[in-house]
Amino acid sequence: MNHPTDQNARITIPHWAGGKPWDGTSTRTGTVHDPATGEVSGTVALASAADVDEVVAAASRAAADWRRASLTKRAAVLFRFRELLAQNTDDVAAAITAEHGKVLSDAAGEVQRGLEVAEFACGIPHLLKGGFSENASTNLDVYSLRQPLGVVAVISPFNFPAMVPLWFVPIAIACGNPVVLKPSEKDPSASLLIARLWAEAGLPEGVFNVVHGDKEAVDRLLEHDDVKAVSFVGSTPVARYVYETATRHGKRVQALGGAKNHMVVLPDADLDLAADAAVNAGFGSAGERCMAISALVAVEPVADPLIHKIRERMAGLRVGDGRRSCDMGPLITAEHRDRVASYLDAGVAAGAELVVDGRQYPIDGADGGFWLGPSLFDRVTPEMSIYTDEIFGPVLSVVRADSYDDALELVNRNQYGNGTAIFTNDGGAARRFQSEVEVGMVGVNVPIPVPVAYYSFGGWKSSLFGDSHAYGTDGVHFFTRSKVVTSRWPGSGAGDRGGVSLSFNPTR
Ligand code: NAD
Repeated sequence: MNHPTDQNARITIPHWAGGKPWDGTSTRTGTVHDPATGEVSGTVALASAADVDEVVAAASRAAADWRRASLTKRAAVLFRFRELLAQNTDDVAAAITAEHGKVLSDAAGEVQRGLEVAEFACGIPHLLKGGFSENASTNLDVYSLRQPLGVVAVISPFNFPAMVPLWFVPIAIACGNPVVLKPSEKDPSASLLIARLWAEAGLPEGVFNVVHGDKEAVDRLLEHDDVKAVSFVGSTPVARYVYETATRHGKRVQALGGAKNHMVVLPDADLDLAADAAVNAGFGSAGERCMAISALVAVEPVADPLIHKIRERMAGLRVGDGRRSCDMGPLITAEHRDRVASYLDAGVAAGAELVVDGRQYPIDGADGGFWLGPSLFDRVTPEMSIYTDEIFGPVLSVVRADSYDDALELVNRNQYGNGTAIFTNDGGAARRFQSEVEVGMVGVNVPIPVPVAYYSFGGWKSSLFGDSHAYGTDGVHFFTRSKVVTSRWPGSGAGDRGGVSLSFNPTR
């Protein structure tokens, strides 16, 4: 498979419209870096509003035929895409690591999670089945169907350049909608590899399109009359803006935002399991996951022994170039690394105890990379910025709580409600927690409870704006409109004409 940056280290990364690469007309470009070296690896086209109009037009031209394509035909394309994605996982993972920095095994893992949504979408004939009620009234039948919306936009963040688009795209396409994907301009290449796979799978031209860009492109998608729905994933301020703007323009919107995920550890928990989980979920992908654990709530007297075990594990973490044998890669940009590092000073100034300082870590990578090792704070309190802000980096904060009730109150007071976990051997406490906690996704002795593809992914409170969660049956409902038909056929039996009656009486 050809990687778009193979031929030349600094080639412009083009859009993908009407089934092929397209340079667009805008002269604005963005710079893409290899975060493990700090070097520029490519330039990406940044679309103008006129470019977005072109791409939406290509999608609109494909809409009528794709809507009419039979379920068998759509499912066949989905099956072929699923096979191609599985065969090309390594190439997509390599593109992710080159632009995002996460270690290769983690990049392959994200492709696998996206692939599972494609597998779910292969079952679209079953998922789109409606209901049928024979003789709802005498000789009168009622049935329901789900129909596509038209062109839909998917706007995705930098931290999962393959998985997050794949949360939406296979289901939207399987439901009969053309898609315009606006990936993050920081790591845009994976989306083009995926576009090539759709084409190879036999998807008609114009059904899947990629437009690269920044706020200008996003704003045009949010306003465009021919874009019927928007699935957005990113930070909370942008998610709120996208939700408000796109709904004002009459669109259906699901906007998934940021997070502050708490892991509550009760005194009876298996502390080795909890320590492993805290390290994996706190520092995997350099903490740049919306489901990363960033606040560890230790219910006393568990804090001291738990911190001891976490420190032991942190000492063995290898930080470096994701193409080598490392556990954790660099951060996405130098600016983001510096912002995350500034929280280490802010935490100390606010009175937290910096138990492990990520700035001291040995690095197995080039000097120019955007490095910051994993950090651990103890004695963090709820008013400190290291607790209130989404840091989105490898910084884990321990908050000590006196009781289960205090821990629960802390989680529920937080503005975010994406994911949370409880570690305990007490089934009753776990059951109480899953019922009482105000968070969309809950793990019991599982730190990153990302639902499998046949459930749906989504947070509560400031972690999601809109009604529908991503993928699963919520995804099918989001990308379709329901219609109910009430039908009578003369000639089908006694009373088949109804007769004259001015009353509104459904019980006949
Ligand atoms: P971001 O909000 O900066 O960018 C997301 C998308 O919005 C990108 O495509 C970007 O080009 C665009 N964008 C950025 N600023 C914009 C603006 N002012 N107007 C219009 N569009 C704009 O997010 P990011 O830094 O790429 O990703 C990290 C964030 O995403 C974190 O907050 C993380 O928690 C969140 N995230 C959430 C989930 C979830 O499922 N809830 C999943 C992944 C990431």
